[in-house]
Amino acid sequence: MTLPMLLPLQCPKCQTPFLAEPDEIAWLCSTCGQAAQLDEKQLSGLSPLEIHFDTGIQPSRSSGGSQPGRPFWVAQGKVTVQRETYSGNENRQAQEFWQIPRTFFIPAYTCTLDQLISEGMRYLRQPVSMMQGSPAPFLPVTLSLEDVRPMAEFIIMGIEAERRDMVKSVGVQLNLAPPILWILP
Ligand SMILES: [Zn+2]
Repeated sequence: MTLPMLLPLQCPKCQTPFLAEPDEIAWLCSTCGQAAQLDEKQLSGLSPLEIHFDTGIQPSRSSGGSQPGRPFWVAQGKVTVQRETYSGNENRQAQEFWQIPRTFFIPAYTCTLDQLISEGMRYLRQPVSMMQGSPAPFLPVTLSLEDVRPMAEFIIMGIEAERRDMVKSVGVQLNLAPPILWILP
C-alpha cells in the first residue's frame, strides 16, 4: 500500500504527527496514547484503533537490550474443512481438531510468508493467554486488517498440509471474529 504523500498523518485525538515508516499501517500516539490505523475511507486517512499490550513485554523505560514487542492480529475462528485424500485418511483427526473454535494469532509485523505461516501455526496449536499490561515499544504494524483473513486461511492450509496422509484438496470455511491488535513479547 502506498501512503498518500500529501496527507499528513496525525493523531486523530491530539494532532501529533505520526512518522510513518514504509508499509506501516498503524500507530500509537506518543503524546496522548491514542492508536490509529490507516483507513482510506476516512477523510483524515485514519480511523481509531485499540492496541492491547501483554504484560510480558518490557515497559518502555527499561534501557537497552530489551526486545520490542511483536504485533499480532488475534481473532477467534470457527473452521470447517472438507478434505479429499489420495491415500491415507486423517479426516477424522482434522474434524476433531477444528471442532472447537480456535484462536488465530496473525503476525502483523514484517516477516516472510513462510515465517508468518509457521508462527501462526505454532500459536494456533499452543495459544498463549494474554494479560492487559502497559504500553511498550513494538515493531511496526505492516499487515492490514483486510489481509488477516487470507493469512488465517494460509495457516489453516499449513496445518492441513502437515497431516500424514496424501491430501488431494482441502476446502476451508472460516468464520472469523473481528481481529484485535495485541502486542506480545
Ligand atoms: Zn495523540
